[in-house]
Amino acid sequence: MADKVVGILGGGQLGRMLAAAASLLNVKVIILDSGDNAPAKQILAPTDPGLAHVDGHFSDAEKIQELARKVDVLTMEIEHVNVESLKQIEGYSSLQIHPSPDTIHLIQDKYRQKEHLAAARLAIGPFQAVENTVESVQAAVDKLGLPLMLKSRTLAYDGRGNYAIRDASQIPEAIKSLGGRPLYAEKWMPFVKEIAVMVVRSATGEVASYPVVETVHKDNICHLVFAPLRSRDASLSERARKIAEDAVKTFTGAGVFGVEMFLLEDNQIYINEIAPRPHNSGHYTIEACETSQYENHLRAILSLPLGSTALKVPSSVMLNLIGHSSSMSEIEAIRDVALATPGTAVHLYGKAECRKGRKMGHITVVAESDAQLRARLRPLLLALPDGSK
Ligand code: ATP
Ligand code: MG
Ligand code: MG
Repeated sequence: MADKVVGILGGGQLGRMLAAAASLLNVKVIILDSGDNAPAKQILAPTDPGLAHVDGHFSDAEKIQELARKVDVLTMEIEHVNVESLKQIEGYSSLQIHPSPDTIHLIQDKYRQKEHLAAARLAIGPFQAVENTVESVQAAVDKLGLPLMLKSRTLAYDGRGNYAIRDASQIPEAIKSLGGRPLYAEKWMPFVKEIAVMVVRSATGEVASYPVVETVHKDNICHLVFAPLRSRDASLSERARKIAEDAVKTFTGAGVFGVEMFLLEDNQIYINEIAPRPHNSGHYTIEACETSQYENHLRAILSLPLGSTALKVPSSVMLNLIGHSSSMSEIEAIRDVALATPGTAVHLYGKAECRKGRKMGHITVVAESDAQLRARLRPLLLALPDGSK
């Protein structure tokens, strides 16, 4: 196992945390990323020239091939990769690619992903394809109602491919702001909570789910993740895990998947979207679970036994450190509060510049009870540049 070299497409924070988990298992990792000081590359010093990182973009076919020649298993920290290139490599080499290029192909286009989930009879809200014209989006409004969520099919993250249309007069602006990308429309889901489940899938198709978490978003970006989910409905977590596991069973290839879901007032659960990789809602697993999502991703893609997904603390929360401006000192101020708070782990991603809306790091807090957790979280929220909102 230790001899197998893993190549990761993308070297951001998820790649960095994968690399950190790999170092504990002495698994060698090579990163493909265009930044020569990318977060994941910073913590991996190649000990031999054969393990040197590749400088290039994860959409660049030649660079992906260069990485493929150096490794035994290819995986990714982002789904927006050049999937045609992965399919070609799959065709001519015995290299393992996890999850499978077919899975990435299905998931990286959100409309195709929805069609796949619908065909598998999984619970998703109504959606429909639209053209980038006012008439076509108006037809979706007529059918699905207002508000309407207009989404880019591809290259979406942190809500940056979404436009919530609240009034039909906003349709031209919505199309313009999504900038000529292929679009589709989703019915507005009046959720009371957003929840998520990480699922790990072995190469043989065995699945294991992590506890259900509650995710709280601010400005479309994940802000807080509480684990485990608290609910008066005892069956809720079981149902959410089953839905997430059933969804992940429909894909091929190994690795962890993040299943984002909406919880409606009547306790119905609908899948929002699935990420074929470690996920922000699973960062908490590093401190709060017996095996982190990162280690389980590696175990899965290396055909090692999967680790326990159980919580090892009664209560936990993850706070994302999102850039508020270009000032790194705002992030450092929260770090200092966290360092003075018991039960707290600080993760800084090593990004060279702080920018508004950029994920700079996160803090995980664990506690013996929910009350203790809230008490530990409070000073952190108050230290955020925009207060405790
Ligand atoms: P991520 O960073 O999670 O990949 P993304 O850019 O892919 O984000 P989505 O997950 O599709 O975007 O949407 C971002 C957020 O917008 C969701 O977490 C949810 O709060 C809200 N949202 C998305 N779709 C809907 C919908 N159909 N109805 C209501 N709210 C929605
Ligand atoms: Mg997404
Ligand atoms: Mg999402």
